[in-house]
Amino acid sequence: MKVLLNEEQLRAGIARLAEQVRQHYAGRPLTLVGVMVGSIMLLADLVRLLDMPLRVELIQSRGANKGTKRPGPLVIDLELLMSDIRGRSVLLVDDLFATGQTLWELVPQLDELGPASVRTAVLLRKQGRQQVSLQPDFVAFDISDVFVVGYGLDYNDRYRNLPYIAELEPQETGG
Ligand code: 5GP
Ligand code: MG
Repeated sequence: MKVLLNEEQLRAGIARLAEQVRQHYAGRPLTLVGVMVGSIMLLADLVRLLDMPLRVELIQSRGANKGTKRPGPLVIDLELLMSDIRGRSVLLVDDLFATGQTLWELVPQLDELGPASVRTAVLLRKQGRQQVSLQPDFVAFDISDVFVVGYGLDYNDRYRNLPYIAELEPQETGG
């Protein structure tokens, strides 16, 4: 395992991200919507760094064709959304932007609920993987196309607890 972003680097990058978010919304109330489970660390950090009126929500996305081989489109489990986002500024928070498919599918579903705006923030963006025209509005770090774990990101339920981002080397993904 190779450390890509240590604790200090993460802290600095997330502080920069939070500052961009703070300036963008300029004190207007914001609803942070975290995509479970990978985003929980980033979400918790943003909540602590954003000194402004905040609501915090969590969503879980699942493939519509669950149980079949094809992953199918992602649908939001709307039961999880506790508050009305109509008329609110929404910032969708996710761990990692790779192909972009996840946010590409989730943003329009939130948009249907009538928020004032939906923007997106991610901890990591992988270079060279993008397949959609959408880009996240706020990005803490750009990384190369390697498999990463830590800070909420797992591999088979492991490594979410790491306080840093590490690259999992091919021999480590064997088991
Ligand atoms: P996208 O839809 O943008 O291709 O993929 C985003 C999602 O794929 C992330 O939220 C994350 O759940 C998963 N993912 C993509 N790359 C990695 C990676 O390197 N490590 C881990 N743990 N998850 C990843
Ligand atoms: Mg995810």
